[in-house]
Amino acid sequence: MSDQAPKQYTLDDWHCSMRALGYQRMQDVQFECPKCKTRQSANDFIEHKIGSSIQDVQSILSFTCIGRFTANMGCDFSLGESDGGHEVEVLLPSGDVQPCFKPVAPDA
Ligand SMILES: [Zn+2]
Repeated sequence: MSDQAPKQYTLDDWHCSMRALGYQRMQDVQFECPKCKTRQSANDFIEHKIGSSIQDVQSILSFTCIGRFTANMGCDFSLGESDGGHEVEVLLPSGDVQPCFKPVAPDA
């Protein structure tokens, strides 16, 4: 976590930055929980039966740690309950700003 203002992306910039990290498909993108540092992608959420499709999980992916939905991880972090502290956020076409976990490169 950092005290600096979060980096804000437009939705287009956001998708470009995923491709720049080396991802072809959004469901493969791994996000790092700022608290427990677990990497998690839409695929992981689907594998744990938290949802059955990327549409099911996209509202929680990169916002609430997968640890909240799985046993034995000891992390239930959610950006919705923290006061700032996120490093990146996305400006949605609706004008809303969505805080997000930081995306990390595929095998960094
Ligand atoms: Zn976590």
